[in-house]
Amino acid sequence: MNNKYRIIINALIAMLLFSACSVKQSDTKTVFYNQLIITGDVETELILDMFTDTIPFQELNMDNETFLSFNLSSLLSYYDFDEADYDVLFTSNDGIKNKLSGGFEFINLYLSSTGWNVVGTDFPSALGLKNLKSIVLIKNTSDWSDSTNIITPFENRISLTPGKMHLMDLEILNCFEGTTTKNSSTMETYAAIQVLPLNKLIPIATPAVVMTRDGGYYPMEIDGYLQLQGNRLNYVDPNKRLVLFDVVGIIEQPPVKSIMDTYHDALQFIDMNERVMVIYIDGFSYGQYNYAVATSHMPFMSDLSKAEMAVAVFVPVTNSGMAAMLTGQPPNINGIKDRNNRNPKIETIFDYLISNEKSSMLIEGNASILNLNTNTVLNPDLNNNGHTDDEVFKSAVENMNGIDYFMVHFHGLDDSGHTYGDLASETMAKLLEIDSYVEALVSLWDGMVIITSDHGMHSTETGGFHGLFIYEDMIVPYIITEGGIQE
Ligand SMILES: [Zn+2]
Ligand SMILES: [Zn+2]
Repeated sequence: MNNKYRIIINALIAMLLFSACSVKQSDTKTVFYNQLIITGDVETELILDMFTDTIPFQELNMDNETFLSFNLSSLLSYYDFDEADYDVLFTSNDGIKNKLSGGFEFINLYLSSTGWNVVGTDFPSALGLKNLKSIVLIKNTSDWSDSTNIITPFENRISLTPGKMHLMDLEILNCFEGTTTKNSSTMETYAAIQVLPLNKLIPIATPAVVMTRDGGYYPMEIDGYLQLQGNRLNYVDPNKRLVLFDVVGIIEQPPVKSIMDTYHDALQFIDMNERVMVIYIDGFSYGQYNYAVATSHMPFMSDLSKAEMAVAVFVPVTNSGMAAMLTGQPPNINGIKDRNNRNPKIETIFDYLISNEKSSMLIEGNASILNLNTNTVLNPDLNNNGHTDDEVFKSAVENMNGIDYFMVHFHGLDDSGHTYGDLASETMAKLLEIDSYVEALVSLWDGMVIITSDHGMHSTETGGFHGLFIYEDMIVPYIITEGGIQE
């Protein structure tokens, strides 16, 4: 089966596994009256339990009664939240919500016989909510990390978090869960979930790729809802009976290509008895490509046919990008989800080549990224110029003869992007150098050539970085050309 369709089948399996809504699979917390849930923009939801927790409780005297209590500010610092980064939303069981942007040191929460309550000196008395349902932390910074982002290939459009969703106009969706019968009595069960219709954010039927935080990659047409479920957002399409848990982002109008096509295209050439060289330029964003074309920092690659855009996988870092390029599958299937993983749990193109009696080689920098079934040639920085690109180039020229699948991994652009920034003159000079290596390698190669990257790069105050669901990190160039001297 063509692997491209496997991704779609994967989405279909997700559809069949889950009921129309996610409630059955949810880990929605059951909270007892003496417990209080902290949710929203938190990595894991916290349930404060008076009787098991070690947080510093105090006694609070009010109206001649003594209550067990804790201070909000102490609680936040106890759980390592920087209170400057958050607004706090108190929600009560009767539907009232109070949002505070500071003054947390004046707030105390206390337990009465009916549940948790708020009291604050220096705050209006309406702050004093009774019978609290939850404390929702709302991140007040918008740095596009730890959020669910809606992007296009050219723009980061919307950054949503579970905390922010608590103050949006959500709808209740009653999901039919099933009919049960005992003797002559029958009942229908529904699950009520909180949702935001996606058409408020993206026109229905827009082509998109939805990605989940565990590395899932789902091409589809937009329909349905975003569900707020505790500290995460899910994609719910009741018509297709599809639920995708913990969505990290949606790319609207995505490019046709993804970096996983590095595998599919190479396989197609190999099956036609063509040799393939993959020139893998680490940390090369589509924005850098365009900038380098416009500023003449890439004379050779500029003269090739215009690069297509290709979508990277989440998390956009080297290990997961490289594994996606070598397996044709997203991280949740190939098992390489971040920098901590090295062993793909499915076959890579190298395994395919071995079973088809084709030769392969990987020309690397000074270290192996993944454990792969091929001859990996490592190239330390022998001349101590701070980069391995010159050594990688030399090694590639020496080793390319007679190899059916030849991958050459240049690391210097990524290093320079981190240190100086994605569009800095130093980084562009590095790209100019790599461009000359690419020109020489392509002219020497007898076969097809794919030039692409594992992920992009964005500017930061101190240089550059990647790893976020933003277009700078998620969209890279993808070029297919033929080897030999270019006309
Ligand atoms: Zn990389
Ligand atoms: Zn990097």
